Amino acid sequence: MKFKTLCRTYSKVEKISGKIEMVEILSETLCNANADEIGKIALLTLGKIYPNYVGIELMLAESMTIKALSITTGKSTSNIKQILEQKGDLGSITYKLLSKKTQTTLSSFTGETEYAPEILEVWSFFDKLAKLTGEGSSNKKINLLAGMLSRVSAIEAKYIVRIVSSKLRLGIATQLLLEALALAKTGNRDNKDILEKAYNRCSDIEYVAETLYKGGIEKVKEIDIRVFSPVKVMLAQRLSSSEEILEKFGEKCAVEYKYDGIRAQIHVKDNIVKIFSRNNENITYQFPDVQNEIIKAAKKQNFIVEGEIVAYDEKNNKILPFQSISRRKRKHDIEEKAQEIPVRVFLFDVLFANNCSTLNKLYLERRKLLKELVNETETIRFSHQTIVSSVDELETFFNSALEDNCEGIMVKSINQDSIYQAGARGWLWVKYKADYVDKLSDSFDLVIIGADYGKGKRTGKYGTFLLACFDTEEGNFKTFTRVATGFSDKDLDFFYQKLSNIKLNNKPKEVVSEIECSVWFEPKIVIEVTGAEITISQLHTCARGWLKGLNDGLALRFPRFTGRIVEDKNPEDATTVNEIVTIFLNQKGES
Ligand code: AMP
Repeated sequence: MKFKTLCRTYSKVEKISGKIEMVEILSETLCNANADEIGKIALLTLGKIYPNYVGIELMLAESMTIKALSITTGKSTSNIKQILEQKGDLGSITYKLLSKKTQTTLSSFTGETEYAPEILEVWSFFDKLAKLTGEGSSNKKINLLAGMLSRVSAIEAKYIVRIVSSKLRLGIATQLLLEALALAKTGNRDNKDILEKAYNRCSDIEYVAETLYKGGIEKVKEIDIRVFSPVKVMLAQRLSSSEEILEKFGEKCAVEYKYDGIRAQIHVKDNIVKIFSRNNENITYQFPDVQNEIIKAAKKQNFIVEGEIVAYDEKNNKILPFQSISRRKRKHDIEEKAQEIPVRVFLFDVLFANNCSTLNKLYLERRKLLKELVNETETIRFSHQTIVSSVDELETFFNSALEDNCEGIMVKSINQDSIYQAGARGWLWVKYKADYVDKLSDSFDLVIIGADYGKGKRTGKYGTFLLACFDTEEGNFKTFTRVATGFSDKDLDFFYQKLSNIKLNNKPKEVVSEIECSVWFEPKIVIEVTGAEITISQLHTCARGWLKGLNDGLALRFPRFTGRIVEDKNPEDATTVNEIVTIFLNQKGES
């Protein structure tokens, strides 16, 4: 398939907001793709060249793309920057500038007929661009991009520029793409669930799409876990009292300490260790110490385990708060930091062992298997765990978790259904945190979607931020609160810098808001916020139409930034509308 065909589809999809229609338009094009190209089409449609866990990025700063565009169009970089300030989207600017230069002039100039590359050619071009590294690579990248832009048509150039800028912005999330693939290849959009389950087991959209096109939906069902390909993590619901928890789980349940660190999915094969974060990014390089320790602790090879990495005070034998471990997230001086901030890994699950997936094994079996795979060492431990059957036992365990510097407990089902649900936030795991006990300080992970400039001391920076939760049903973001407190001067400088890179001129398509903002952002950054209570709101769109007899939405009162940027959560992992409604109903004492 020609890349231009895909671009025309992108252009159509971009103009509509209805999910059903978007799926239909996209699937019409996907129908015509062949098995060799569908994987790359899937990646490109999500604005990616490789799956996240591969960890290779294009590394093309905006200034480099501007330089390439300047070479192609003959316009000065300052002129392009000026237009960018007003228009905000480099892709559309590229389109405008190149449309003026008609294809006839281009081809008569170069003596070539119009170059309309195939999708695979364009992907190879991105691949080459990404793999150019080392001295002088920036200039080579600029020239390579300029060469491509001067050969293709305006519409192709628009989307090439958007992809290299990591700003494709079609409003197509993974869920929507999976639905379009299901519709295109099987004629039934409900098969999306099968694709999604397979995707949750391998986090590789390219592989899922290729398998579907090569072997049909039956082959997709067979997609299994592979070591070194991260599995989407299982997530927990929340409850705020021991009574509710025991009622939910029945007679008995397992309880574990809830460590406040970094979730790590650790893959081991032939003494090679790879560590993936909660959102499936490869974070191995940050933890050379964990790599060594895991190899020492391993009794077998070829397995995947999960645990939480926390910073540890070795002198006083105690777990340190999240802020300490977050200092290990860096690109330089890693060995030095590893010495300075020692860690402990508390393992709590196993996903693959003895050459097969263990996802369908029950919790207690998995726990047993974990102990057959690794020995406990100074650094590698098993999460503190016990089985409880009364409120008293649960509360005693909860209190000891808090005394041992944990943020609460994880309660896990030990029933016949207690499998590992990859990618799901079900009721088999429930988190019970100290802050839920005091209802006034429930915490939420929310996405920054907009801001207004500050006044007084905050002039020239953003002063108030508009925050959104995620609506899993509709696959979009709904506004929940505006926060202005809890930010230090350093935080405000940091956010101003960080958000400026993802600034938009208009409200993004995937955001539903009735509140206007001076600046909008791509929904990318998740922060932790506490609040006094959830109230009914005529302004906010969170849960609008969800509650019986209520057309208003829900909002968080007296929000405060806790100082924590939740780097290992994707925006889609933010607190959901569903969770907020549950908390609201609990707060009101309704069921
Ligand atoms: P939250 O991030 O608040 O949704 O809580 C879930 C997170 O708690 C998981 O993603 C893990 O990173 C972390 N966690 C800490 N201890 C445990 C444990 N024993 N079992 C499962 N998850 C844990």
